[in-house]
Amino acid sequence: MKSVKVLRALGLLLILCPAAFSAPTKTPPPDIFLITIDTLRADHVGCYGYTHGATPALDSLAKDGVRFAQAFTPSPITNTSHASILTGLLPGSHGVTDFGVPLSAAHQTVAELVKAQGYRTAAFIGAVILDSKNLAPGFDRGFDFYDNFPEHSSTKSRWGRIERRGMVVVEHAEDWLSKHPAGPHFVWVHLYDPHDPYEPPMPYSQIYKGRLYDGEIAYADSALAHFIAYLKRSGKYANSVIVAVGDHGEGLGEHHEDTHGIFLYDSTTHVPLIVKLPGRRGAGTEVTMQVRTLDIMPTLLELAGAPVPQKRDGESLEPYFVGKAEAGRPAFGETDYPLRFGWAPLRSVRSEGFKFIEAPRPELYDLQLDAAELSNKYEPRDARVQKSRAMLAEVRSTEARIEGSTTTATEPFSLPDPKDKIEEQNLLHAAMIASEDNRSADARKTLEKVLALDPKSPTALRQLGELELQAGDYVQAAHHLKGATEVRPDDAMASFYEGQALEKTHDLAGARDALEASLKLMPGQFQARLLLGQVYLALKDPIAAEDQFEAALLLQSGSVEAQLGLADAQITKGNLAEAAQSLEALSKVQAKNAHVFELLAKAYSGLGRKMEARQAEARAKVLQRNK
Ligand SMILES: [Zn+2]
Repeated sequence: MKSVKVLRALGLLLILCPAAFSAPTKTPPPDIFLITIDTLRADHVGCYGYTHGATPALDSLAKDGVRFAQAFTPSPITNTSHASILTGLLPGSHGVTDFGVPLSAAHQTVAELVKAQGYRTAAFIGAVILDSKNLAPGFDRGFDFYDNFPEHSSTKSRWGRIERRGMVVVEHAEDWLSKHPAGPHFVWVHLYDPHDPYEPPMPYSQIYKGRLYDGEIAYADSALAHFIAYLKRSGKYANSVIVAVGDHGEGLGEHHEDTHGIFLYDSTTHVPLIVKLPGRRGAGTEVTMQVRTLDIMPTLLELAGAPVPQKRDGESLEPYFVGKAEAGRPAFGETDYPLRFGWAPLRSVRSEGFKFIEAPRPELYDLQLDAAELSNKYEPRDARVQKSRAMLAEVRSTEARIEGSTTTATEPFSLPDPKDKIEEQNLLHAAMIASEDNRSADARKTLEKVLALDPKSPTALRQLGELELQAGDYVQAAHHLKGATEVRPDDAMASFYEGQALEKTHDLAGARDALEASLKLMPGQFQARLLLGQVYLALKDPIAAEDQFEAALLLQSGSVEAQLGLADAQITKGNLAEAAQSLEALSKVQAKNAHVFELLAKAYSGLGRKMEARQAEARAKVLQRNK
């Protein structure tokens, strides 16, 4: 089913691409540096008029390049927004509408397309959420090198495990460039620092005491300065293309939103965008017409002399560089992030001086009179509302054509309006950060506050359940997780955790049901298969146990635990010879594993091979003692 979809999308590309090739450029293609600065509000940057911070690197880049005063991201969350920057597609078109959703190979990225033109490509990320082995599968496509986080982090600290400081990120990028001098290069540098929690290093933590968000921005800017100094020193700066852009903004309490992700107001969608072109082209220009971060990908492809796919939602910014563009572009906003908490997703249109937000309680703002979006002028018969709804319908049908499926936002109005849930969300977010930082007491207290507001909040119930599971309070964990899966029966992970908690409380039938439910939703979970196999063994159902261990071995063929479980099930079933044979093989590679010899003794004794059974038993005892 899925492959048909992919093939169809590829077929479409094959038909459309030849016509889309732009003429090859005569001059050698420029180095391209894409700098994304996380959580950077446009109005907190010096060259955007802010006077309380310090962004000298961004400000001087603006003097050397073109500054877009009105640039908007289609998404207020990191992975979705970055996927749009890399593909030139709206979230509903590229499909990465939440963390962990893979970027489909059907959607070509700027990295893939410039690599095909001979570019050397590398990506340096500042947060584990963009790790392609973790929450950003597919983002590494097209990169010769993608600087993922270590798979097993030895540290409990945030740094190096969840986040890298900007200076570390740029040093990695500079090292790579020094080791790979032959260009042209396409390098993506992601500076995560301004994202909460706001913990800038010294001296920024001191200088910006009381407004640490600005401190993080000043620190990220210093990392950018370090990188730009490196580019100048190595002779790469003058003829390069450098794009500096925020992936989204930050609520900072506006509309009661502390951080970002839920709403589509300008506080989280208006971002700085600066494009420095080779040879000081357009240096110092300010463009006031509205553009989108979607437009970055087609722009970079054009500058690299690479083909621009027809399948895109963005357009090259070239007309603005040469002063040919007469109008701004409509900026669409999409957030499915509220769905994660069971609330309605939002859609917006920002065009011709107004913004329309489609929600259970829709909103319309006249941005000329009400830039802060405080006075809702929605009225269903308003011509601007009707035009916006027609534009959103058009976007939905385009997205469905590109994605090859219908979007998720079909029946949003039965869900709560996120405007009524934002206090809850602020608490949930604070709890998430607390548990990331291993402050479980803070996390627990915050989650209990959420449950006081909404006793059925599935997110709070699940997170509290996970915390109790880690803390070893299995009865409480099972109670919360049961609550979570009742509200949201399609949450495979909550069911898995519930199964773990119930197994620990020796409720084997309950554990079985929860694990079966989880695996029905997500069949490829190795740990869940393994645990369910053990539960079936304990329930004296070796046939069902065998199925689970075999399924686990299909997922991880080398797993010793799954092999032992399978042998155990075979012994219980009476397949003694088969069990003995696989255990003998296993004993050669697992010569120090007492469990192997315990099971071997059982198999031998069942087969009447008493001497060998005694030997295996003795070996198991020695190993047990030496453990
Ligand atoms: Zn972000």
